[in-house]
Amino acid sequence: MSKTYDVIILGAGPAGLAAGLYAGRSRLDTLIIEKGQDGGQIAITSEIENYPGQLLEGETGPSLVARMTEQAKKFGAERVSDVIKSLDLSGDVKKVTGNKGEYLAKAVILATGAFPRPIGCKNEAKFVGKGISFCATCDAAFFEDFEVFVVGGGDSAVEEAMYLSKFARKVTIIHRREELRAAKSIQEKAFANPKLHFMWDSVVEEADGDELLSKMVIKNTKTGELTTVEADEEDGMFGLFGFIGLLPNTKLYEGAVDMENGYIRTDDNMHTNLPGVFAAGDLRVKSLRQVVTAAADGAIAAMQAEHYISNLK
Ligand code: NAP
Repeated sequence: MSKTYDVIILGAGPAGLAAGLYAGRSRLDTLIIEKGQDGGQIAITSEIENYPGQLLEGETGPSLVARMTEQAKKFGAERVSDVIKSLDLSGDVKKVTGNKGEYLAKAVILATGAFPRPIGCKNEAKFVGKGISFCATCDAAFFEDFEVFVVGGGDSAVEEAMYLSKFARKVTIIHRREELRAAKSIQEKAFANPKLHFMWDSVVEEADGDELLSKMVIKNTKTGELTTVEADEEDGMFGLFGFIGLLPNTKLYEGAVDMENGYIRTDDNMHTNLPGVFAAGDLRVKSLRQVVTAAADGAIAAMQAEHYISNLK
């Protein structure tokens, strides 16, 4: 018979690790289950400079996450690597089944995050963090006075392009159609921004460069014509930001908890519609997806799990 933990946390990104820290500190018997490396999206972020209190020179996503992992461990949270296949979240004892076995707990915190939909061009993975980014808030400052390109035509792409225009010398939106999807009010501001340019009916076919992104092939979606864009010689590189929607890691929970467009609905205290089941971080319906908000969600979820468990006794 498997041991019953107080709380199982699915995902070891900032939300899951903060939940682990707070649960461990509350003396809850805590297990964090993660299928890959710790950190989620910030594990692929080359520099972090907007996490409050973080001032270490050269802080990277992985170095910040390594300290978060250590801190959760210090307070007693166990961590296993496993790929979860199914869950039964309805009863008093929650059952989580992975490749390596079955895990039981009185409460579960879902913190498996979301990931940006990839741009879908050739060599994309090679240049993530070396010119390709999916987070303007995180990376805009690194493109001060450089040229950047933004893929997408929705609210996110246009708003993030305007944010990037505060840093970059020139920002070009590459959109697969000739009309933006973004709200008209957002479009009006974008068209009035002198730094914003548009490449219509276009998709990025291929990214290229030596170490850093310095070349890309653009395909015209109407004519099929291919054009090569090269970085200004003095710059040696350009930025390419993808904002073509996020994909939440919530497939496993479909039908089990309430969702909206694939994101989990919670109240302000991270409660889902199921007793003893909490959600924290980017997989939640929320307005700002950042390390600081994910960590805050995790802390709240863990404290709510503690209240829930003490009321069971
Ligand atoms: P979105 O509204 O789904 O837009 C995605 C954009 O990416 C669309 O323009 C789409 O093109 C394009 N796209 C999708 N797949 C693509 C592909 N494979 N290759 C090239 N382009 C592709 O996503 P979002 O902008 O991230 O917004 C998500 C939700 O959050 C929306 O409901 C949005 O309204 C909301 N949001 C609101 C605000 C705000 O109110 N201020 C800000 C941000 C986001 P097509 O247009 O051709 O389909």
